[in-house]
Amino acid sequence: MDFELSKEQKDIISAAREFAEGEFPDRSEEFDRDESFDEAIHKKAAELGFVGTFIKEEYEGPNMGTLEYCLIFEEFAAVDPGIAVAILISSYGAEIVQQFGTEEQKKKYLPPIVSGDAVMGSAFTEPDAGSDLAGATATTAVKDGGEYIINGSKMFITNGDRADYLICFVVTNPDNPDIHRRHSMVMVETDRPGFEANHLTGKLGVRASDTAEIAFNNVRVPVSNLVGREGDGFAEAMYLFNLDRIIVAAQAVGTARAALAESIKHVKKRVAFNSPLSSFQSIQFKIADMFTMIEAGRNLVYHAAWKVDKGIFDHKIIAAAKSFCGQMAVKCTDMALQMHGGYGYLAEYKVQKLYRDAKITEIYEGTTEVEKIIMARNLLK
Ligand SMILES: Cc1cc2nc3c(=O)[nH]c(=O)nc-3n(C[C@H](O)[C@H](O)[C@H](O)COP(=O)(O)OP(=O)(O)OC[C@H]3O[C@@H](n4cnc5c(N)ncnc54)[C@H](O)[C@@H]3O)c2cc1C
Repeated sequence: MDFELSKEQKDIISAAREFAEGEFPDRSEEFDRDESFDEAIHKKAAELGFVGTFIKEEYEGPNMGTLEYCLIFEEFAAVDPGIAVAILISSYGAEIVQQFGTEEQKKKYLPPIVSGDAVMGSAFTEPDAGSDLAGATATTAVKDGGEYIINGSKMFITNGDRADYLICFVVTNPDNPDIHRRHSMVMVETDRPGFEANHLTGKLGVRASDTAEIAFNNVRVPVSNLVGREGDGFAEAMYLFNLDRIIVAAQAVGTARAALAESIKHVKKRVAFNSPLSSFQSIQFKIADMFTMIEAGRNLVYHAAWKVDKGIFDHKIIAAAKSFCGQMAVKCTDMALQMHGGYGYLAEYKVQKLYRDAKITEIYEGTTEVEKIIMARNLLK
């Protein structure tokens, strides 16, 4: 067993860290306060090769592995989790196009993601369908000659109000007795008549990232926009979730790592009872526990990613990485805020933002509870 990253992987970490430290801090507070983002940062990241890293060379991508994607995500999130999401999740769903799309779809949709000329997203969740995606999805795509007519609505869609195209989970075969065979993935260009997006404001964290509700009112797309086969939508969704759950776990590790770094700085500086906080054992134990949890989480991330890069989708390990790291980030940011005392409660201290940013890693891409259900199902079958 070799725990050493390769020279190339270490170089990726250094480059990602240098970019994030150079570009994010000056804009972090503004994006968080205003729930805004500057596409120039996304474009710059893309030009440096950080976007769509999993996209193959024939579609103008760098063809890196899942582990490399995780390394970049951790570095970006360690500086600003919201900006990390805004930049790196601009490729969300390109995984499905690359795996299940036609050659024509790959050539059309993948290169602009890598270059940063386009943003995409994936629309699964609906106002009444979140964890129960297969059972409750109501958005329909009905065939009419050479087109699908799409009707329905989606909720909480990352990049919904920003994307050039969204890959959408829709019901195409409602009468199939198997609820996992009723859906398909259809690409929708966001300039099509009948498509409406409404940017959601007031999020707790990752506020640089656009989240929107979507309405489809008789949106027509050619049947050639079907990605994969009719009825395979659920399997395609699971393929994406299994990849991106590892990425969210890496986001959680980066967030927790930032919380530890802020805590170490603070407890060495802050004095109470004539001693730096770092001299108190209860503080030392918190620092040690955070370090342990972060290392354990990162090892789960690397293990899950390493397996995927070998072609093994180990659902238990992926779900363990996602659920452990999400909870770990929430716990670590909470401990960090506690060590900052009243200062941690103020917006001007970075731990407050990290505390808010961490929570999403327990919710999207499958909640902590859903991940535990997956693990238990696999372990008990
Ligand atoms: C900022 C943000 C960005 C997002 N981005 C996207 C995106 O790009 N695309 C997209 O499609 N979705 C996106 N989502 C949606 C996200 O994936 C869902 O919110 C998530 O899957 C949970 O679904 P829900 O909100 O409907 O909660 P629900 O499914 O209603 O769950 C509510 C609670 O009940 C629990 N629960 C549900 N079922 C069970 C069960 N069987 N057993 C035990 N507990 C259960 C859940 O774990 C959770 O704690 C985003 C959400 C947010 C907040």
